[in-house]
Amino acid sequence: MTLDLVKTLSDLVALASVNPMGRAVSGPEYLEYRVTDYLEQLFKKLALPYQRQTVEPKRDNIVARVDGEVPPSEGGPLVLFEAHQDTVPVVGMTIEPWTPTVRDGRLYGRGACDIKGGLTAMLGAVARLAQERPPGMPTIVMACSVNEEHGYSGATALTRLWSQPGSIIARQPDAAIVAEPTELQVVVAHKGVVRWRCHAHGRAAHSSQPHLGVNAIFKMSRLLNSLERYQSEAVSRLGQHALCGQPTLSVGTISGGLSVNTVPDGCTIEIDRRLIPGEKPAEAYRHVLDFIESEIGADPAIEHEPPFLIGVGLSDEANGPLAERMVAAAREARIPCDKVGVPYGTNAAAIGAAGVPSIVFGPGSIDQAHTADEWLALDQLARASEALYRFGRTGLK
Ligand SMILES: [Zn+2]
Repeated sequence: MTLDLVKTLSDLVALASVNPMGRAVSGPEYLEYRVTDYLEQLFKKLALPYQRQTVEPKRDNIVARVDGEVPPSEGGPLVLFEAHQDTVPVVGMTIEPWTPTVRDGRLYGRGACDIKGGLTAMLGAVARLAQERPPGMPTIVMACSVNEEHGYSGATALTRLWSQPGSIIARQPDAAIVAEPTELQVVVAHKGVVRWRCHAHGRAAHSSQPHLGVNAIFKMSRLLNSLERYQSEAVSRLGQHALCGQPTLSVGTISGGLSVNTVPDGCTIEIDRRLIPGEKPAEAYRHVLDFIESEIGADPAIEHEPPFLIGVGLSDEANGPLAERMVAAAREARIPCDKVGVPYGTNAAAIGAAGVPSIVFGPGSIDQAHTADEWLALDQLARASEALYRFGRTGLK
């Protein structure tokens, strides 16, 4: 069966699958189950064996398989295609998020670029391979995961499938291609991240007598100055990755105080520290805390929570042959393709950390992901699918 790529992408965009991003929200647009049900029907139509893996209520990974010439249990090759089902929220969008619209060679809608386009490109390749079954093709597992945008728990659950008896993935895959909008380049390395909250505690007083209180915002401002120096000076001493540059630090939110006439008794910030491949999240967190303490001294009224989000980076140490093959497949599909590094995180790091050489590839630019008028260039959709099909014909050979 040949898949109509534009129709499939339109169908997927029309099915809202918004990630709640850790907030206690409810509404018909949240969670991935509509997309999962659609994919289940599609895999049935393609006559592929598939398995649903519940990660949280209404949040299932769905995994289908195209059997290659030699089963993986008998030494045949096994390749994983992976794309996430969730999108970011739609607040502030200037277009109808779930009414896919094609205009000037682009398809507009939430998730068109990140990553229902990449998912569609993979589904198109899988459908062709399932029909043609070229001799010598590897077994291909198409995994559609939940919760990529807030903590990678779907991909992490996926990596448990291949050690589960009776699961659809007989053993650990030999290689994984993860869909994200890379503008048809092969991403071989990307940064990781660790995020946490930090509180400054003070003592409230009437603002006409500030000496009777302890101003938590003033206290936090000293810490913020120190964090700014961390970003401007300290990170450059931590080394560079050839493709990803140096680590970074940013403070993304701040809140505190009750009213302008009260000395604030609390102030909270959220810190985002990006890691270069090879850096360990716990060590990076500790490094920031030690830097602050060396600058402003130990202060029992400063409290760093444990990280609420951790993602390791993707290293290019283990994925060399896989990347070469994917670059070659893309060039066969007339795509000017090279190996690159990027600053954002992906599911490839979670799959790579489980021991599977992993790369990232997909249509669309990260510049259009998560935007108010998210769109995907449809010529990239077709070319991505062609490149993935060509890779899938022979796998790593
Ligand atoms: Zn994505």
